[in-house]
Amino acid sequence: MKMGAKKRILKIPKRVSIKCPFCSKSNRLEVIEDQLINSFECKNKSCKQLIKTPITQCCIICAFSKTKCPYNLKVQAKAKGLELR
Ligand SMILES: [Zn+2]
Ligand SMILES: [Zn+2]
Repeated sequence: MKMGAKKRILKIPKRVSIKCPFCSKSNRLEVIEDQLINSFECKNKSCKQLIKTPITQCCIICAFSKTKCPYNLKVQAKAKGLELR
């Protein structure tokens, strides 16, 4: 390792914001490690749609939030040599 090289850290978020594809409302979602979430009911009272993971995506978090699920973050951290916390 080079001198002075900073160890980069990747954090797994505790909560993510899921953007509903039906009403565009942001929903808070607790992140549970080792669990892929594939369906989620929108909390907007005038929407209440069941959001499901598109076939081409890994899970609700990967598809509808700005971040990735813990599983994909781990893959990313491994590939880039980041420390995961
Ligand atoms: Zn909605
Ligand atoms: Zn995912």
